[in-house]
Amino acid sequence: MTMVTAATQPLRPEFVPASFKSELKPIWCKGCGNYAVLTPIHKALAEVGVPPHEVAVISGIGCSSRIPGYCATYGFNSIHGRALPIATGVKLAKPHMTVIAAGGDGDGLSIGGGHFPHAGRRNVDITYIMMDNEIYGLTKGQASPSTPVGDLTKTTPYGSMDRPLDAASLALAYNVSFVARCFVGEGAHLVQTITEAIRHPGFAFVHILSPCPTFRGVDEFKEIRQHIEFLPDDYKTDERNAAFTAASRTDGKISLGVFFREERATLVENADILSEKAKAKGKNTIQEIFSQFMP
Ligand code: SF4
Repeated sequence: MTMVTAATQPLRPEFVPASFKSELKPIWCKGCGNYAVLTPIHKALAEVGVPPHEVAVISGIGCSSRIPGYCATYGFNSIHGRALPIATGVKLAKPHMTVIAAGGDGDGLSIGGGHFPHAGRRNVDITYIMMDNEIYGLTKGQASPSTPVGDLTKTTPYGSMDRPLDAASLALAYNVSFVARCFVGEGAHLVQTITEAIRHPGFAFVHILSPCPTFRGVDEFKEIRQHIEFLPDDYKTDERNAAFTAASRTDGKISLGVFFREERATLVENADILSEKAKAKGKNTIQEIFSQFMP
């Protein structure tokens, strides 16, 4: 666990996990992995110590995308696959806010898959939490972009033919500046990782293995547990190529931990620089800036 130092002390210690919990009762199925992500998000926000009114949780569509309703913060359960552009807009409009985007593998790797690389290369200062259950749960069990080859689903009755996408490896390829993987059965590690992700100054991606017992069977949790392995203590998080190897193992094991982190200018910082340049040219209003692009 991270040592508590002056730099990691909560900003406002009066906030506790319950400060971030809404009155809505989650309606996920019994045993759904998403329950085990919700509480760590509340705990991580309390650990960071931001006031609930300075937090926005933005999601797309899917079972896990119900999360904004269960947080006593600003929130938007938006449209399918669009959590990242909306979260980016919130961060640009309100840079002081802590912005969390959340959703599933179907939402973020299929219809929303085109937004992921651009949020990564822009280094928008938000935390993106992907709850990967390897299935479309809300729409009753169709194969998703992360469904393993051969698995039987509603849309693959003879077995899925397509190679699954690994979200953490994609994030590394997309120049994401903080990339981690967690499992819902490791609650303390989830809290620690989400806390680090929120504190990271830049785009932080947390890939969470979150089983769907309803459409992938009740044994999935145990099967994942048998394959997980934490990164070694001497693992270095500043080598992207090594991170690829760690994130996409070929020995049947699934690595958990922070694969990679780097600090570089964020989208808001770069936008501020451009804004100053525009002002130096005497372009001080939106109309004046837009007029540069008019014929
Ligand atoms: Fe969770 Fe699956 Fe039920 Fe959706 S369908 S709430 S992912 S268990």
